[in-house]
Amino acid sequence: MTWKCPQCHRSFRQVNQRHACGVGNPATLLKDRPPELVGLYRKLVATINGFGIVEVVTRNRYALFRTTRIFMDLTVMRDALRVVIHLGRRVSAPYFVKIGEGGKRVSHVALVRTDEDLGTIKPFLREAFNLAAGEES
Ligand SMILES: [Zn+2]
Repeated sequence: MTWKCPQCHRSFRQVNQRHACGVGNPATLLKDRPPELVGLYRKLVATINGFGIVEVVTRNRYALFRTTRIFMDLTVMRDALRVVIHLGRRVSAPYFVKIGEGGKRVSHVALVRTDEDLGTIKPFLREAFNLAAGEES
């Protein structure tokens, strides 16, 4: 069961879920960033779109990726994408620079600067997506 906002037509898990209507302007997210970083962001989005239906909401340098639940969010830094992946378990690996536990999800922070970095986190992105998507029924 999901609720659809009559204003912006986005779907949420709770009736009258508080949110900022609309999904923001992705141009601000990548403004004045080097083309390599912009390219990396595009690849990341393409990867995630390959998993299934995903909504991207942006605000300034911040973007979140959700089904009806957020499974990943990121901040565009000067030379890297600071990606936070929300998993149902804790994964200790050197490429996760920070791990935070709060509630049911464990957030894993990775700094993505290259295609290799993106390849490394891809399985975890999919895992996080599957977890969020699976909770919808
Ligand atoms: Zn709305």
